[in-house]
Amino acid sequence: MSNSSENRRISEVVLSMDCLEALFSSLDFKGWRILEKAGRKGIRIWVHLGILNALFERWLSKGRGLEFKRLVGRILEYAKPLAALSEDAFSICNDSVDPYVRQVLLSLDRLGPEAKALCVEHLEKPASSGLWITIDEFTEYLDGTVTTVPVPFVDLRSQQDRIRASLEKNIFRVLMHGRYVRGDEVSELEHKLAEYVGVRHCIACSSGTDAILLSLLALRIGPGDAVFTSPFTFFATAEAIALLGATPVFVDVDPVNFLIDPNQLVKAVKSLSEGGIDYPLPESGDLKARAVITVDLFGVPCDYDRIRVIADRYGLLLIEDAAQAFGARRKGRRACSFGDLACTSFFPAKPLGCYGDGGAVFTDFDEYADVVRSLRDHGQGLGAYEHLRVGLNARMDTLQAAILLAKLEIFEEELGLRRKVAEEYSRLIGNLPGVRIPQVALPELTESAWAQYCVVFERKEVRDKVRRALNSAGIPCAVYYPVPLHLQPAFSRLGYKKGDFPVAEWLSERVLALPFHPYLGPEVMEKVAGIIEASIRHIS
Ligand SMILES: *Cc1c(COP(=O)(O)O)cnc(C)c1O
Repeated sequence: MSNSSENRRISEVVLSMDCLEALFSSLDFKGWRILEKAGRKGIRIWVHLGILNALFERWLSKGRGLEFKRLVGRILEYAKPLAALSEDAFSICNDSVDPYVRQVLLSLDRLGPEAKALCVEHLEKPASSGLWITIDEFTEYLDGTVTTVPVPFVDLRSQQDRIRASLEKNIFRVLMHGRYVRGDEVSELEHKLAEYVGVRHCIACSSGTDAILLSLLALRIGPGDAVFTSPFTFFATAEAIALLGATPVFVDVDPVNFLIDPNQLVKAVKSLSEGGIDYPLPESGDLKARAVITVDLFGVPCDYDRIRVIADRYGLLLIEDAAQAFGARRKGRRACSFGDLACTSFFPAKPLGCYGDGGAVFTDFDEYADVVRSLRDHGQGLGAYEHLRVGLNARMDTLQAAILLAKLEIFEEELGLRRKVAEEYSRLIGNLPGVRIPQVALPELTESAWAQYCVVFERKEVRDKVRRALNSAGIPCAVYYPVPLHLQPAFSRLGYKKGDFPVAEWLSERVLALPFHPYLGPEVMEKVAGIIEASIRHIS
């Protein structure tokens, strides 16, 4: 896209005082139709509360207060209320500019470069003329071509629009009470999450990676220890193992559900502990099999019936990496309840995400919970400045907890929306030749959290063609994961080679994650399906 059209894109519109007055003067005013049209094109309309209040006073003084309230109800169907911030008050007493013009200008500044102020007529505003657009100009813009709002891979904006009121309230409260670390919101969140998952303890922490690190530390895993895990996951899973001086021992995945293959796990454990079985192992000295980190990839819990049996049989501790699966279920049990310790991430793009980094450890064991709680806070004991062990600074900050509390209110509903979007994708592309849609191991028993909708193309060249075609259509997509962990340069010292884990390698060349979030509309899905279909036809 060229620079000039980039500059001209409008994604936010603030209603000015004169525009609101015109709208309120008549329901037949053309402005109403424009608002509706803009909304359909994904442009957000805002009304500043300072301006709305000022107008209310005017109508009230004319004895038309009730009428005004009805009109406000009407405008809020199209426009979102924009909070007045403290600096707006100063503009009333200090500024030479009309305070309501000033409030609009301050709003534009907060909404960013794609925001414009909607007015009826251009007034004399030399310094800021580029920021204003009349209703007629806006109509022209909407009828023009450059009006598509880009497709996001994960749409956090729509979610935010739904929960803005509670988000703002929760954030504001933290600003006011000032306990930015160890605030009450953190323990409130921990209680709610533990209850949701159905385990005794949730310990909120600074990221999913730190959740894994804390779990490994709590299990005293270190040099000389082998920790089995998947090579087909995000780097963090194995990174935490290696960071503590332990050795990641990779186990290939199942080609259908991408999850660690229990049969291969048995082989790897036997090969490491008993020998006599040929399985690719890292080049390290003698290792003691200590633990397994399973990964509930893309939102699907692993086969924990079998994995639990294997772990018990070989004396392995079980850590569940459910960074992508918070909210998922298997046989009625939630993800994060299967491991001796379980970890999740609240990175913004995960199914439950905060506005920064965050994570949590879950466990039913009181002792592990105590140790993790201590470890996340410099290994502190009960007294201040008493340190029982060497730990980390890995607390979740209060603001992130406050944000998660707001998001948790709609989380269950969002899981349902995710499932619907996944079903619709599957309906659209499930029958295309050479395309494998996501499968869960036991569909009747497993509910995915649908962190991703990841498709497998049986031929790599089709995957690559689809990827290019989507990109040129401005539709984002991603490859999770292009390089399996055993082939990552950071793990070269383990001595693994290409061919060691053929399923992970095969998948890494054929997977493609499509844009996916609870608010994805049918238009984008149909467009994606059309592009996939055309690419397949073009190649074969
Ligand atoms: C995201 C992710 C992590 C790491 O979580 P962060 O919060 O980003 O540190 C770990 N494992 C898996 C499988 C992930 O997807």
